[in-house]
Amino acid sequence: ALDAGFFLRWMTAAAASVDREAARLTDLDSAIGDADHGSNLQRGFAAVVKVLEAEPPGTPGAVLTTAGRQLISTVGGASGPLYGTLLRRTGKQLGDADRVTADELRAALRAGVDAVAQLGGSAPGDATMLDALDPAVEALATSFRAAAEAAVQGAEATVPLQARKGRASYLGERSIGHQDPGATSSALLFSALAETAG
Ligand code: ADP
Ligand code: MG
Ligand code: MG
Repeated sequence: ALDAGFFLRWMTAAAASVDREAARLTDLDSAIGDADHGSNLQRGFAAVVKVLEAEPPGTPGAVLTTAGRQLISTVGGASGPLYGTLLRRTGKQLGDADRVTADELRAALRAGVDAVAQLGGSAPGDATMLDALDPAVEALATSFRAAAEAAVQGAEATVPLQARKGRASYLGERSIGHQDPGATSSALLFSALAETAG
C-alpha cells in the first residue's frame, strides 16, 4: 500500500522533473500560448515542495490536497487551478486513510481528472492536458509504468489536433502541428509517479 511518504516522494519527483523540463514546457507554450507554462509550474511545484517539507502532512489525502492548494494559490495561469483541482479532488477522494492501494489511487485520480474536465469545460480531443491525463488514468489499471507511457503517447497525440480550449484555441487551425504544453507536463507528472513506484 502507498503511504504519505510515497506521496511526498511523488510530489518531490514531480517538482524535480518540472524543474528539469521547464525550458521545454515554456518553448512549447511559446509556439501556441504565452511562453509561461514552464515557469508557472516551476514556481508552483517549488512552493508545493516548500510547504510539504516545512510541515509534512500525515496522510496521502492530505499531501495531495495541500499540494493542490499551493498550486492554486501560486500559479496564475490556467494550469494552476486545473492542476490544483486535480490534486485537491484526488486527495479529497482518498479521505483520511494512512495507506491507500493502487486501485484506490486510480479511482481517486479518476475523480480528479473528471473534476479537471468539468472546471475546464474540456474533453479528451480538445488538445489539452486531458489528452494525457485521461488515458493515463485508464492505463493505471495495468501499471504505473503503463500509465506514464499512455500519458506520453497522449501528449504526442495532441500534435495533429486543433486546440479547442485555453489560449492555444485562439490560434484556430494554426494550433495544429504543435504539442500541447499542459499535456506534456501531465506526462511528467505520471512519469514521476512511475519513478516513485519504482
Ligand atoms: P496560461 O494558458 O494561462 O498561460 P499555462 O500556460 O500555465 O496557462 O497552461 C496552459 C495549459 O493549460 C494548456 O497547454 C492546456 O493543457 C491547459 N488548459 C488551458 N485551458 C484548459 C481547459 N479549459 N481545459 C483543460 N486544460 C486547459
Ligand atoms: Mg501559458
Ligand atoms: Mg499565462
